[in-house]
Amino acid sequence: MILHPGESNASYTRQSPATHFHPMATKNLNLSQLTGEKTYTEIVFSQVWGKVEAYKASHQQQKIFMMAFGDTTQPLPPTVVEAMVDAANCLADPKTYTGYEDITGNSALRQAICDNYYHKKMGVELESSEVFISDGAQSASVNIQDLFALDNTVAVQDPAYPAFVEGTVLAGRPLVNLPCEEENNFIPKLPSEKVDLIYLCFPNNPTGAVATYEQLQGFVDYARSQNAVIIFDAVYSAFISVPNVPRSIYEIEGAKECAIEIGSFSKMANFTGLRVGWCVIPEQLTIKNTMPGELNNLWRIRHAVKFWGTANVAQYGAIAALSPVGQQECQKIVNYYLKNADLLREGLEKAGLHCFGATDSPFVWVKAPQGLSSWQFFEKLLASTGIVGVPGCVFGSSGEGFLRLSTLGQQEEIKAAVEHLGALKHPMA
Ligand code: PLP
Repeated sequence: MILHPGESNASYTRQSPATHFHPMATKNLNLSQLTGEKTYTEIVFSQVWGKVEAYKASHQQQKIFMMAFGDTTQPLPPTVVEAMVDAANCLADPKTYTGYEDITGNSALRQAICDNYYHKKMGVELESSEVFISDGAQSASVNIQDLFALDNTVAVQDPAYPAFVEGTVLAGRPLVNLPCEEENNFIPKLPSEKVDLIYLCFPNNPTGAVATYEQLQGFVDYARSQNAVIIFDAVYSAFISVPNVPRSIYEIEGAKECAIEIGSFSKMANFTGLRVGWCVIPEQLTIKNTMPGELNNLWRIRHAVKFWGTANVAQYGAIAALSPVGQQECQKIVNYYLKNADLLREGLEKAGLHCFGATDSPFVWVKAPQGLSSWQFFEKLLASTGIVGVPGCVFGSSGEGFLRLSTLGQQEEIKAAVEHLGALKHPMA
């Protein structure tokens, strides 16, 4: 059936194209703003990778220690593998075969996130209907903007995980930077102007900073007073090792009224390739023109329109990761990466460099010595040790003068890199 302008096959009203007539298809100008090596991925793959390739070509004996990528390297927990093999075998049998899942995610997984993650680990009470399974935190953290009007102003930490900024540009929403400076331990001040959405990420990528209860309470109080919503990225919560640091925004009083939380199995269980994450939209969350439960319901509708759930086999793996044995196995993996972070930070400090992070995240945020810029330090570290990081300025202008090193690699590699640092004839700072 061909629908003509004004005709509709549903009970909602379609906009007539006549008033927005274009002689041909036109490109999305927001999306095309991101071309020309402006995105993080393009910069890393062309500029960082390009410089490494050029260096390798002229220094063929030099060992390269790739610490630019935040990808995991360790195998999946055995319990997870077993559960996924079982799930795959069920799919092979007509008696146990299942197709589409509940579009908000496997109900046992949503319940396990409430019980074994939020309740057991931090005493936070949530209903499984408040948890939505996603195909990772990357898509969830950007897509969540679909809940809000296009003129909403978005505040983002600077430096930030790039998806928050690029997703905002793609949607065409106004953007405000919240500088994260060394003198404030990389915790931003409250916005000085009215903003509507605030991305917060703790433990932070790239700086590795964590926020205290008081600091997060300040943001929650701000959001409640301004009718703003916090989008809290807690992807690295499993890495928190210092005491008295909140792992979830819902540990903060009043947060259920003003915050959405994004979680992921990627870094806590090596699921980067499996793609399972989640997003919490509490019933109590309200904004200016909504009733309690309305945003939760809107997100369910959005799931039905643009997403139909993540892979069922991977979701069974995620359930296993949250079992008591799975949790022990996951903790071992996290401890392995934290040990890497500890080894690397110690080595860098012995070489005279000033480092941040590494205690509660798999990132070392290294200050460029002698007033070098991020890119100058990148080149110097590469030339003298073979270590490759990401220049801090790629994460935002306040990241200038820093370099991020990921410690999600193999421990032997980290140890070998540290030996190279130790072998430096002259301290770098
Ligand atoms: N959020 C932050 C802060 C991250 O560092 C990452 C991945 O590096 C993601 C989200 C994306 O995670 P996922 O693999 O779940 O999409």
